[in-house]
Amino acid sequence: MKITVDEDTCCGAGQCALIAPDVFDQRDEDGIVVLLDAQPPSEQHALADEAASVCPASAIRVSGSA
Ligand code: SF4
Repeated sequence: MKITVDEDTCCGAGQCALIAPDVFDQRDEDGIVVLLDAQPPSEQHALADEAASVCPASAIRVSGSA
């Protein structure tokens, strides 16, 4: 699994950091997403997928399965 985020699209809603706090964080100053782990371990995959699906800005892209 490889994750990318689009900081220009992110609206700072923070859903990703709530769902998968080991993979996503938010900048303190404006809430824009910070990708903590672009290739998370398998136990994080379901949470990362969920975060991508609920992101209101569709700013999270998940590719691959390993
Ligand atoms: S859920 Fe989407 S819009 Fe919200 S902080 Fe994360 S990447 Fe940004």
